[in-house]
Amino acid sequence: MIIVLKPEVTEPQIEHVIQRVESLGLRAHLSRGTYRTIIGVIGDESKLRVAPLEAIPGVASVVPILPPYKLASNEAHPEPSVVEVAGVKIGGGWLAMIAGPCAIESAERMDAIAAAVKKAGANLLRGGAFKPRTSPYAYQGMGEDGLKILRDTGRKHALPVVTEVMDPRRVELVDQYTDMFQIGARNMQNFTLLTEVGQTRKPVLLKRGLSATVKDLLMSAEYILSEGNSQVVLCERGVKGFDPIARNLFDVAAVPATKSLSHLPIIVDPSHATGRPDLIPPCALAGVAAGADGVHIEVHNCPEEALSDGPQALLPEQYAAIARQIRQLAALLGKKISSVNSGNQ
Ligand code: PEP
Ligand code: MN
Repeated sequence: MIIVLKPEVTEPQIEHVIQRVESLGLRAHLSRGTYRTIIGVIGDESKLRVAPLEAIPGVASVVPILPPYKLASNEAHPEPSVVEVAGVKIGGGWLAMIAGPCAIESAERMDAIAAAVKKAGANLLRGGAFKPRTSPYAYQGMGEDGLKILRDTGRKHALPVVTEVMDPRRVELVDQYTDMFQIGARNMQNFTLLTEVGQTRKPVLLKRGLSATVKDLLMSAEYILSEGNSQVVLCERGVKGFDPIARNLFDVAAVPATKSLSHLPIIVDPSHATGRPDLIPPCALAGVAAGADGVHIEVHNCPEEALSDGPQALLPEQYAAIARQIRQLAALLGKKISSVNSGNQ
């Protein structure tokens, strides 16, 4: 950590900063420049994170050397992590193909959609039983009945399942049915929920918050990792933009930018990022081209009857078409797609 002092800093103030640093068991190295004086701190930086040095008169800024997301950082873990969801690998060259309806609506519908996405090449099935809706009057999900349908459908079609958990009090319940937890964008900074899923040993799909920076996303991942759960997959799903032309602003640069900082796999969700079926295929391909470790797409066999996110759902045949292109691009990039029954594809 480097402490940059103000140009008008006084000698007693410099002395005070040095004493403060040394009182924490660290070494201070004073360096006087023509325009600025700085203090280099040597020792365990984490001790200084709890000390508000910026509050000391004469201190202009405090510049950490190590990122605060130390477990998520690729400095701590230079090799890309591979997360395994009931046999399906994500990251380190393995591409996830997550597909399914926004909400679980009935066993019949789930079965039809699962059969279609499986045939198209999906390797993970999604579906929400607890839905984070902007309006309290909108469809809220089937709850535990939906979780049962999701689990049974996933088993029938040999597709591990991923579903959202919104409430720390329901982590135990959802854990009984799912192969991977999803933390939705609106809950990315629900730290109690992050801590709770961090205490399980089940993979977590952590979606980027609507106005969260890449570093915020990594700090949220750190909450899960620091509880001992290393199975975290990040998801770029668009951030709030100013243009109503799309539901959100798909931040494709966030994919390589996140990879430049972290070893964690990151997938893209062009469905929620754009909200438009015509924009989903090109953005899915852009995400994979940018290095994403997977693509998450909402699929429905009758979007006009969907209880949630119908307007952005792809029809099964539209999903099959984009899945084919994703596979071709993946092959070109040397990425592999694993599945529970056939292993390597
Ligand atoms: C979803 O996956 O259905 C969902 C609500 O996503 P997000 O949290 O990204 O809005
Ligand atoms: Mn949705």
